[in-house]
Amino acid sequence: MHKSGEQPIQYGGVPEAERPPMRSIGRGMRSTCPACGTGKLFRAYIKPVDNCGVCGEEIHHHRADDLPAYIVIVVVGHVMMTGYMLTDMAFRVSPWIHLAIWVPIAVLAALLSIQPIKGGVIGLQWALKMHGFGSKHGDGPEGRHGGPHE
Ligand SMILES: [Zn+2]
Repeated sequence: MHKSGEQPIQYGGVPEAERPPMRSIGRGMRSTCPACGTGKLFRAYIKPVDNCGVCGEEIHHHRADDLPAYIVIVVVGHVMMTGYMLTDMAFRVSPWIHLAIWVPIAVLAALLSIQPIKGGVIGLQWALKMHGFGSKHGDGPEGRHGGPHE
């Protein structure tokens, strides 16, 4: 299935217990690898790399799926609705003017925020060792790949 993911790189005694969630989310939101904070997390717009180019951490385990989109909808929706209601009270303009102003802003805000939010979701999943993050030795919470027969 994963062409490159089957051969885990051995890191000797590098400790992998240190995974503070907030730091990992912050690194992801800056589009950097949650493990080292240096390597790039995305190879293209909202396309995560398979492995970190600096520390080799496997990123392909992430299952961000639709969650970043839902977060963007909730956040952008609330910000836009608040902005609309505040300006509607201050400036009496037609609904068409509001549409012309808010729709482009909403689209732009969604496009600009989806990648940092996706990075944050990946960082959180990595920090919590979800979906195979951290199970490279078969001892993670989801180290089920080894199964009962090691
Ligand atoms: Zn890295």
